[in-house]
Amino acid sequence: MKIVVTVKLVPDTNADKRIDPATKRLVRTGVETVLNPFDEYAIEAALQLKEKLGGDTTVTIFSMAPETGKEIVRKALAMGADDAAMLSDAGLEGSDVWGTAYAMAQALKKVGFDLIVCGTQSTDAITGELPGALAEYLGVPGLTYLRKVDVDGTTVRGERETDNGYQKVVAELPALVSVTKSINEPRYPSLKGIMGAKKKTITTLSLAELALDRPVGSDGAKTEVLDLAAAPVRGKGRMVNASDGADGARIIVEFLREKKLL
Ligand SMILES: Cc1cc2nc3c(=O)[nH]c(=O)nc-3n(C[C@H](O)[C@H](O)[C@H](O)COP(=O)(O)OP(=O)(O)OC[C@H]3O[C@@H](n4cnc5c(N)ncnc54)[C@H](O)[C@@H]3O)c2cc1C
Repeated sequence: MKIVVTVKLVPDTNADKRIDPATKRLVRTGVETVLNPFDEYAIEAALQLKEKLGGDTTVTIFSMAPETGKEIVRKALAMGADDAAMLSDAGLEGSDVWGTAYAMAQALKKVGFDLIVCGTQSTDAITGELPGALAEYLGVPGLTYLRKVDVDGTTVRGERETDNGYQKVVAELPALVSVTKSINEPRYPSLKGIMGAKKKTITTLSLAELALDRPVGSDGAKTEVLDLAAAPVRGKGRMVNASDGADGARIIVEFLREKKLL
């Protein structure tokens, strides 16, 4: 069975981020790039499935990112994945979610898969829409927000987190799942893993190798960033002193009425 894990390369979560007012894009120069932290849970889930299934099960890392990100992809390989494929092309710059999902789908058809495991969200764009859009373009079932995943024969099943519980979900392979942070505790790469990753293959695909029938990059984007503004500075809160719980409730109700929220 071939499991493919999608990983996004993102600016370091703690780094100061800046948007270029001219291009309205995130400035990536001078900011350290890291593996999207949410994707470490996806890698761990795939590795655990491989350990359980054994046999000829393999785990491939896939990333749509500039070739300069190869060394970051190697960190994902150091956790224990077998090989990696990257879709790297200057023509992808400015892709929105739909363009990203479409290009990734065409590349993943080429890479081949039985199961795709995605993280829930990236830490930069944070739409959480990519897994659903990718499943749609691939024409496979998409089981998202899983806190548990298992493969049994040709079936994938899992528990899908909701606001007030979970749903039991099931689909036939090939399929796509996205996993949440409650699914596992990602492993640290071992020294052996780090050394071994240096010899693992990272294949690079370009747009010319894909059968695209619509534009991607900024030409194909259905969304456009029109304007940007800094978040307003938060004003001082209002402190109230209530004599007891009932008085506190009365003051809150009055406040909400005043704001026309009740
Ligand atoms: C108008 C517009 C312009 C943009 N221009 C650019 C640009 O020039 N350059 C740029 O880098 N981004 C650009 N973006 C952001 C880019 O479109 C999104 O980063 C991308 O669509 C993925 O969405 P997300 O980060 O919200 O992923 P989410 O849906 O939050 O991510 C969920 C999961 O999908 C997977 N995933 C997401 N992205 C990738 C990826 N690239 N490779 C592999 N797996 C992935 C990961 O497993 C991740 O955990 C632009 C967005 C918009 C709206």
